[in-house]
Amino acid sequence: ANTKSEQLIEQSERYGANNYHPLPIVISDAEGVWVRDPEGNKYMDMLSAYSAVNQGHRHPKIIQALKDQADRVTLTSRAFHNDQLGPWYEKICKMAGKEMALPMNTGAEAVETAIKTARRWAYDVKGIPADKAEIIACTGNFHGRTMAAVSLSSDEEYKRGFGPMLSGIKLIPYGDLEALKGAITPNTAAFLIEPIQGEAGILIPEEGFLKAAFEHCKENNVLFIADEIQAGLGRSGKMFACEWEGFSPDMYILGKALGGGVFPISCVVADKAILGVFNPGSHGSTFGGNPMACAVSIASLDVLVEEKLADRSLELGEYFIGKLKQIQNPAIKEVRGRGLFIGIELSEPARKYCEALKEEGLLCKETHDTVIRFAPPLIITKEEIDWAIERIQNVLA
Ligand code: PLP
Repeated sequence: ANTKSEQLIEQSERYGANNYHPLPIVISDAEGVWVRDPEGNKYMDMLSAYSAVNQGHRHPKIIQALKDQADRVTLTSRAFHNDQLGPWYEKICKMAGKEMALPMNTGAEAVETAIKTARRWAYDVKGIPADKAEIIACTGNFHGRTMAAVSLSSDEEYKRGFGPMLSGIKLIPYGDLEALKGAITPNTAAFLIEPIQGEAGILIPEEGFLKAAFEHCKENNVLFIADEIQAGLGRSGKMFACEWEGFSPDMYILGKALGGGVFPISCVVADKAILGVFNPGSHGSTFGGNPMACAVSIASLDVLVEEKLADRSLELGEYFIGKLKQIQNPAIKEVRGRGLFIGIELSEPARKYCEALKEEGLLCKETHDTVIRFAPPLIITKEEIDWAIERIQNVLA
């Protein structure tokens, strides 16, 4: 007889659209940095649901907020006010140092919102002629899977068979200031960038690029929009990855850990001169700003701050990267990262290493074929990192 896990995988493969290629593991329980399969095998989670679980699986404070809210009210739609949205607005605005926020549910929806904001700002504020607004993005980007997000992508596999794509998009090589300067025209509305590219393989632009790009955008009245859905909220060792270069972008796009891996919530945050372009009826979402999401998000943000998870990420990230750099293997081309946002670039496909690490009890996922990503929940302890390093050495050294 098949194991429970095998049965569940078979069921998914039989009825599910084939749009993912997961490792052959079923997770049925989780706590902190650890997860279990139905057979009771225990694994360390080194992916954190692509950084949505920065606060750790089922953080007690976040789960309590979820339960308390579930006992009161879960959804009102935005036809009415709810008592969690106001406090959430104030919290996220103060944390991001911005005047206004607009909540959605998934990261891709927040990216859509950012693009709609930038375009409307371009017409209503900057004065770009109708339908001429341009958005500049970077090659290798990942902004999600909606039509706008895939239109931004340079990856043919994300776009194949989905045309026609959105127009008004230009791509420049990631981290290329001269290319950015050359791409800006009087019709440029915004420059959209991940301050660290996650899906592309934990790519960090050359030091000084982000700040210089921000300043160049400012000089040309172009919005600098930072997609910090994955890199933000402590992951990179700072609350926001743009802090690495000491500036605040015109707009942040946030998601993932904004809901602590417990409830989906995403948003854009910016000043009123930008987000003020919306009026009633111009944008929205049935679930956006719902009280469950807001209550969970407030608790999730509190956990990040109270437990100093950005500092923890910075400190333990340096330790982890240092240890990884000591591993000798000719297939390792580079170990790079900021905080607990770490990639090992190999000269060969990473999948077989991820499969071998799974056998050792460590769950991680290759990204862009040749990169192993290590992004554990930020609540991980030094002892747990040592445990992981031992397993990684077994597989890689
Ligand atoms: N932007 C970035 C930088 C991401 O890493 C992701 C998800 O991996 C997204 C956008 C899309 O978020 P979602 O999958 O919640 O739509």
